[in-house]
Amino acid sequence: MTATADEIQRAEASTANNYRPLPVVLREGHGAWVTDIEGGRYLDMLSGYSALNFGHTDPELLAVAHEQLDRLTLTSRAFHNDQLATFCAELAELAGMEMALPMNTGAEAVETAIKTARKWGYQVKGVPPGQAKIIVVDGNFHGRTVTIVSFSDDPKATAEFGPFTPGFVRVPFGDGDALRSAIDDNTVAVLLEPIQGERGVVLPPPGYLRTVRQLCSTHGLLMLADEVQSGLGRTGRTFACEHDDVMPDLYILGKALGGGILPVSAVVARRDVLGVFRPGEHGSTFGGNPLACAVGTAVVRRLKTGEPQRRAAELGAVFADVLSELPTTEVAEVRSVGLWAGLDLATRDGREVCEDLLRRGVLANAAHGRTIRLSPPLVISEEDLRWGVDQLAAVLTK
Ligand SMILES: *Cc1c(COP(=O)(O)O)cnc(C)c1O
Repeated sequence: MTATADEIQRAEASTANNYRPLPVVLREGHGAWVTDIEGGRYLDMLSGYSALNFGHTDPELLAVAHEQLDRLTLTSRAFHNDQLATFCAELAELAGMEMALPMNTGAEAVETAIKTARKWGYQVKGVPPGQAKIIVVDGNFHGRTVTIVSFSDDPKATAEFGPFTPGFVRVPFGDGDALRSAIDDNTVAVLLEPIQGERGVVLPPPGYLRTVRQLCSTHGLLMLADEVQSGLGRTGRTFACEHDDVMPDLYILGKALGGGILPVSAVVARRDVLGVFRPGEHGSTFGGNPLACAVGTAVVRRLKTGEPQRRAAELGAVFADVLSELPTTEVAEVRSVGLWAGLDLATRDGREVCEDLLRRGVLANAAHGRTIRLSPPLVISEEDLRWGVDQLAAVLTK
């Protein structure tokens, strides 16, 4: 048996079956490239669903992590630590906000946003106790907790996981009129991804995010932008909302915020929004730990240079260009923004194409069915990017 087959068999025997990984076992990665246990090399065109925006083992981020690892890693929030204030202040500044509440995973940050909106609704808006309503959209993906899957329309995410959390109303993504009709006196917030990542990089129709912003402002609702996947440079801007000149009331961030090193998430908002929390009402043992904050601050400083965003925008133009040359008989639709693309295949199964890509040395992910998602690290070279798409073209035309 090959080392790979042996390792896969061991994993299948002892790991819960909640994922179906491609048949490759990785052991090392640098920049946009990873190596498997048999020495095979692959171009990473997924980047941990955008968690690796700055590539694998970025030397600068690693140096910050190593330095902090040797000094102080965890304090709990029962005490202050010397990394927390800097991280929250610099992250808030990057987002044009005033405060941050650090958590660990994206789902926890979404939960935090939901709790923030509800508390804000009762305290500031005066919604009757227990009546707060949050509007969400079709095709959403915000994580895997019971409350979050309560408003998912993906049967795989929900089947046999109920009973669910009430208080959510779902309307079609991109439909301003449907959103307007769903608002009532108890509505406290609209929660959405400005660009729907898991759904397959689905872009909002022109003007939609502005309509959402206007409706939220007019009706006194919080606009909660889940930029866990779309944020932090991926689309060529710091936040995807910027493409539509929209400022939400709260950003939900995660994935790339941890520099691909550890889970770091946060909600970032103005003081009149995040200021609703009092001691004991919300928290996390690991959220805001000094190691996470040190890495998170390094990520924020990297983004402050504007360099990752610039690369994503510049290479994004190349990406869109080469993707548009894929055979139209095989690709029904391409959606892309920055270094982020969703491809709907005309006939072939996404998984099958990703398996073929693996054999050609490219890692990609089938979002679902016939849809493939590509999100190479923002540090990828133009040459590698073109080579990666060439492999896809070869797979599709074989
Ligand atoms: C990945 C993702 C989440 C959940 O993040 P986890 O760290 O996996 O919990 C939430 N929202 C969006 C938009 C995501 O892409």
